[in-house]
Amino acid sequence: MCGIVGYMGPKEAAPILIKGLHRLEYRGYDSAGIALINGNGKLSIYKTKGKVANLEKLLSDKDVSGCVGIAHTRWATHGEPNEANAHPHLSEHNNIALIHNGIIENYKALKEELVSKGYHFYSDTDTEVIVQLIQYIMDTHKISLTEAVPQALANVIGAYAIAIIDKDNPDVMIAARKGSPLIVGIGKDEFFIGSDATPIVEYTDKVVYLEEGQIALMERGKELQVTDLNKINISPVVKKLEISLEEIEKGGFADFMLKEIYEQPQTLRNSMSGRLHPDLGEVRLSGIIDNKEKFLNARRIIICACGTSWHAALIGKYMIEEIARIPVEVEYSSEFRYRNPVIYDDDIVIAISQSGETADTLAALKLARTKGAFLFGICNVVGSSIPRETDSGCYTHAGPEIGVASTKAFTAQVSTLALLALSLAKEKGTIDDATRLRLVAELQRIPDKIEKILKHDRNISMLAPIFTYARNFIYLGRGYNYPVALEGALKLKEISYIHAEGYPAAEMKHGPIALIDEELPVVVIATRKGKYDKIVSNIQEIKSRKGKIISIVTEGDVDVRKISDWSFEIPDTEECFVPLLSTIPLQLLAYHIAVVKGRNVDQPRNLAKSVTVE
Ligand code: GLU
Repeated sequence: MCGIVGYMGPKEAAPILIKGLHRLEYRGYDSAGIALINGNGKLSIYKTKGKVANLEKLLSDKDVSGCVGIAHTRWATHGEPNEANAHPHLSEHNNIALIHNGIIENYKALKEELVSKGYHFYSDTDTEVIVQLIQYIMDTHKISLTEAVPQALANVIGAYAIAIIDKDNPDVMIAARKGSPLIVGIGKDEFFIGSDATPIVEYTDKVVYLEEGQIALMERGKELQVTDLNKINISPVVKKLEISLEEIEKGGFADFMLKEIYEQPQTLRNSMSGRLHPDLGEVRLSGIIDNKEKFLNARRIIICACGTSWHAALIGKYMIEEIARIPVEVEYSSEFRYRNPVIYDDDIVIAISQSGETADTLAALKLARTKGAFLFGICNVVGSSIPRETDSGCYTHAGPEIGVASTKAFTAQVSTLALLALSLAKEKGTIDDATRLRLVAELQRIPDKIEKILKHDRNISMLAPIFTYARNFIYLGRGYNYPVALEGALKLKEISYIHAEGYPAAEMKHGPIALIDEELPVVVIATRKGKYDKIVSNIQEIKSRKGKIISIVTEGDVDVRKISDWSFEIPDTEECFVPLLSTIPLQLLAYHIAVVKGRNVDQPRNLAKSVTVE
């Protein structure tokens, strides 16, 4: 959730750390802090509530010299976001500083014990127990920091990514992970730590992704050393980073979110490239081809996901069931993991997660693993935890998504699911060749059709100011457009803070219709394919109760346009691919309303990009 960055090398650490925090700010941002050790062995810690900019302001008249340091942006789980609870936290003798991402579940018991031994606590966080426990172990066993860290971590239950520096060992930096991601960057005579690659990418492309339960010891003038919690040496696998700095910058757009909305034609091309072969009328997904028997013999597919990924999963269910005729269940990972679900060993469990680090989805996978199911991951972040925990999978290749509200990662998930459905249909022979050829050819045309929709962005931006008064929105859709309605409502909630609900259009009569009055904007996705006549009737029902209708219609539509207050056209396509198009105007609508309302669209309040805590 939070951001971790660390540096040790010949350069001044503070500018690198602050820049790194800015890059990580999208992950969580209720407070920030930094610890530095200068050439005289002085350890300085500065912390503030709020954004990284506040920390920068605080540092402007402070001594920030030092070539080793760690810094953190916090997304509070234990203790309110204030200065005392911000990281880094210090040990009893004020010499060890530690930052942490995750949750320590047994912190209460550990804290009570440490307090009884005379150790003092200055925050309400769970994090502080780690640094005090390390200190306690060093004090009682008279051992070094490097020896104490694995012992302390062996006593800690929960999830963590941590980085540590020690005033008495200024040439050492330690990092460890369990449950939360952490990356070590290796430069020339220097080391970097990042909770993802964004703070590291401009300095080095050599990285080591720490695995579960690994500890990295970085010592000046020495090679990186990695051990497990039992102090067994592990030879680190150095990988080449595959993202460029340019890819993570705004590229002339006002916000990352808008840039990412506009990138969708290209991200979809990337996500399909090498997999979709319109010349052959085929889809080739190695994750399916290599595990053909598993898929052919699967009793059913269970898709586990959260948030936007859950909406993609629902679209995937409709596609897979319609085209490949395999039963699919879609589960909220957080419910699935705790409700003792029935899982058979001939089930396939698909996990969908942009970051590949979603804590609940990882836990759902672990549960499915114990029941013998085959695990398949659909993730965006290469090298993240879910791809490593699954038997097989495919990346969505949407590139880094910085805006907290997901846009391009969502459409890339949907297109990946479309590829998966088509690939399964081919293996199972559930659609005839002509249909397959038609669908494959149409999928290839989707990016061009999105480009066409984006050209009409101005019409949507002009509409946005009309709705700044609204406190509620309803989104309605049928069939493939029902999950799109859910996703459209979620986007609006996330970034504009306007309450919005998505419903299957026919459900309106069973309750939500009571909300309709002349103030309520109702967004209806009423594309030509699907139950068009039925949705026209639903619109009439809203109209007769004076609701304000914003409709998404197929090019050339006359009937729905006539009864709507505002309409947007999207190109015609195959029914199963409609979500890839009908989502775009809804993303733009949410974006423009949020901008008009003066919201920070890239970093909406209370949200974080990668939900690595449950
Ligand atoms: N649980 C820790 C805290 O509340 C870390 C939260 C985070 O990951 O930012 O301070």
